Amino acid sequence: MTGPKGTEVAVVGAGLIGLFSAHYLLDRGYAVSLVEAGAPGGGAARVNGGWVCPARSDPMPSWGVVRDGMRALASPSGGSFFLHPAAVPGVAGYLARFVANAPASRFARSWDELDVLNRQTASLVDRLVEAGIISDLQDEGFLMLHSTREEAEASWASLAAVSRRGLAPAPEPIVGREALLELEPGLGPASQFGFLHRGDRWLNPSRLVDALVESVLSRGARLVTEAPVRAVRQRAQRVELDTPAGVVEAEHAVVAAGAWSESLLRPLGVRGYVTPGKGYSFSVHPEHPPTHVLRLGGTHVGLTPMGDRTRVVGMVEFDGKRDGVHQGRIDLMKRLAAPYLAGIDWEASTDERVGPRPMTPDGKPLIGSVPGSDRVVVATGHNMLGLTLGAATGRLVADLVATGPAAAVRAFDPMRFSRGPLRRG
Ligand SMILES: Cc1cc2nc3c(=O)[nH]c(=O)nc-3n(C[C@H](O)[C@H](O)[C@H](O)COP(=O)(O)OP(=O)(O)OC[C@H]3O[C@@H](n4cnc5c(N)ncnc54)[C@H](O)[C@@H]3O)c2cc1C
Repeated sequence: MTGPKGTEVAVVGAGLIGLFSAHYLLDRGYAVSLVEAGAPGGGAARVNGGWVCPARSDPMPSWGVVRDGMRALASPSGGSFFLHPAAVPGVAGYLARFVANAPASRFARSWDELDVLNRQTASLVDRLVEAGIISDLQDEGFLMLHSTREEAEASWASLAAVSRRGLAPAPEPIVGREALLELEPGLGPASQFGFLHRGDRWLNPSRLVDALVESVLSRGARLVTEAPVRAVRQRAQRVELDTPAGVVEAEHAVVAAGAWSESLLRPLGVRGYVTPGKGYSFSVHPEHPPTHVLRLGGTHVGLTPMGDRTRVVGMVEFDGKRDGVHQGRIDLMKRLAAPYLAGIDWEASTDERVGPRPMTPDGKPLIGSVPGSDRVVVATGHNMLGLTLGAATGRLVADLVATGPAAAVRAFDPMRFSRGPLRRG
């Protein structure tokens, strides 16, 4: 333990990043208070697909995503990306920087930088399994489903390239419908070709949130709920968190408020362009529940087996809000998914939910201390990867609190967008 025993750290937000940070701060001997606006896991944490997927951790900005986004916007039926016209002024700064980060060389560099965290994920997750915090990790593989051989070959080639990064084995050979039906009997007519890709794993994220809360509380952490932090202020030797119920004081603070972080960071001089990209999930109850994660062609919709139900996840929606289910998005996900699957009563779906992903323009999180407020550590902007990168982020946060800027990873510098137009790290 290198943290001075009993030094107080207040963590803003009991989502995935706040909870993982609390876990590793406790390991170092800190006294941790979690200050949460609502209840733990109130943002994107419980909505998510449950994929612990270091092999699939490419950053979002790329020409492919820009192209898919433009197509979706131009399509009358919409697509997996949705930008509400009224939200354009609010997201223009994010989008301009997103496009600036799309060129292949920037995409490749960001991916290498994300791998600094990704390479730690498997062993940290294995340790959380040993500690009994993760109890339902599944590793039967991701089954990629396609309607044409050409599409399957393109998808296979891109995952073969991903595997060369060393975080997962090469995908298994492409097979036809008959072999796919042996793996998963509940496939529909669009599932003509496909292949299995092992390496990445999945779990029930809600169960993980509950287990992390139970674990940190049992180790002495304090949890303050229904306490939205309005401001974070650094004083001489302390940090103050202003909440409607009063001021919470500590020696250090960690800002891990997910898609709500930007308004807390701006007064500290950090312009992170953290933007809510809403994602949707709902449950279905298939006649033949899948035993693999299913990825459905180019739809950007996926299915995760989760105990007695199957979770359907997808959609990136920018409407300037952090909540509010638009039924049209759920209906579209169902229309996109239905041809690939059989034996599902889509009308009988349950648990329809939305969660705000904390998106950043270069697809990388903001993790580091704040110049001029060195007692405040930022840990947010995990885009689509907060579950995958959560454990490695939490450990880095604990290092930053313990050793200060010496532990900083330049690629995640929270100030990288604050220094000039369209700057990246
Ligand atoms: C549909 C969907 C599917 C996804 N699938 C995956 C996946 O399969 N794998 C993966 O790795 N990632 C996935 N993600 C992304 C992942 O869920 C996020 O990256 C992750 O939740 C971000 O963690 P966070 O702690 O930063 O934010 P959150 O988990 O959203 O937590 C933020 C917390 O801060 C609290 N808060 C906000 N403001 C304040 C305030 N002022 N004061 C105090 N507390 C505050 C909120 O109430 C919330 O509890 C998915 C996301 C969505 C929406």
